[in-house]
Amino acid sequence: MDECERFAQQVLDWFQAHGRKDLPWQQPATPYRVWVSEIMLQQTRVSAVIPYFQRFMARFPRIADLAQAPEDAVLHLWSGLGYYARARNLHRAAQILMTEHGGEFPRDLAAIQALPGIGRSTAGAILSLAFGLPFPILDGNVKRVLARYWAVPGWPGQSAVSKRLWALSSACTPEVNTGAFNQGMMDLGATLCQRNQPDCDRCPLRSGCRARAAGDPCAYPQPKPRRTLPVRRIQLLILRNAQGEVLLERRPPTGIWGGLWSFPECAPQRAPEDCCQDRFHLQPRRIEILPVRRHTFTHFQLEMVPVLLEVSDTPKAVQEGDGLIWYAPQAPISLGLAAPIARILAGRPLTDEKEKRT
Ligand code: SF4
Repeated sequence: MDECERFAQQVLDWFQAHGRKDLPWQQPATPYRVWVSEIMLQQTRVSAVIPYFQRFMARFPRIADLAQAPEDAVLHLWSGLGYYARARNLHRAAQILMTEHGGEFPRDLAAIQALPGIGRSTAGAILSLAFGLPFPILDGNVKRVLARYWAVPGWPGQSAVSKRLWALSSACTPEVNTGAFNQGMMDLGATLCQRNQPDCDRCPLRSGCRARAAGDPCAYPQPKPRRTLPVRRIQLLILRNAQGEVLLERRPPTGIWGGLWSFPECAPQRAPEDCCQDRFHLQPRRIEILPVRRHTFTHFQLEMVPVLLEVSDTPKAVQEGDGLIWYAPQAPISLGLAAPIARILAGRPLTDEKEKRT
């Protein structure tokens, strides 16, 4: 018996004794029920999925019921599970199954993978768990078990690492009892080989597991590398008049902080007093460069250099209106301010916060 055969036997023996066999989608494990459960289980735990699965099956017991339903009804039953593209893809795939496959799942990997929202692992799960066919899977739990057992370096999102894990999954997946093996791998990853606290002492694979032997199972699989975000630099012109008011400008409706109020901007390579002169026809009597502030968006980091420009009195040249306002930080009125701008106005240090924006 080679190592892969021993691996498979250990997983199968463990599954017989400890695996989960009464999950709602296993009773009975039809292709439709396996499919819906696999899609729901992406990004979501079993305990959270069970009530959604039961409601979904009560409302759409057959592929035909799902295909005929209005999209709103499908989304309504998905409400709270998140990642709504999954529900829309399920709905569209059910319609394709009705029109192109007579309302049945094909027993063919490529045909199943051609359906919206179904990747190779979900297709393998449908074929093995519902049809008993010998196809491997590679969901998050299986990736973790394999990466640890074989000490596979790298982040599984990298194609070379994913390829290696698929090769290992294919090599270890038995030709018979494939459904039980695949379910056993998923159960092992979910219950023993957990992300942060693997219970190696109770694991059937402990004697051959390289990551356990190395003493640090959690080192595998490696996490997604942090991206280095590009940096965009701007100068923020804080024009302050003799009354202590500062000039704010409404930002364009699109782009960052669209429609909110901010300080006028100046390109980083320009002298701020030149910007002030060109835009507002003002010659500041005092200029002070304030500490740099940073703000992280999804795709870039904004480095802001606030420049305080003191101008005498309330200059006639700068009238309110047309997206400009003299704002008194001591007696603030209700304005939509970008959060970092509000912090500068409040005189608080700006922490490097993350902002979700695509
Ligand atoms: S021995 Fe530990 S790290 Fe290795 S597969 Fe089992 S639970 Fe995971």
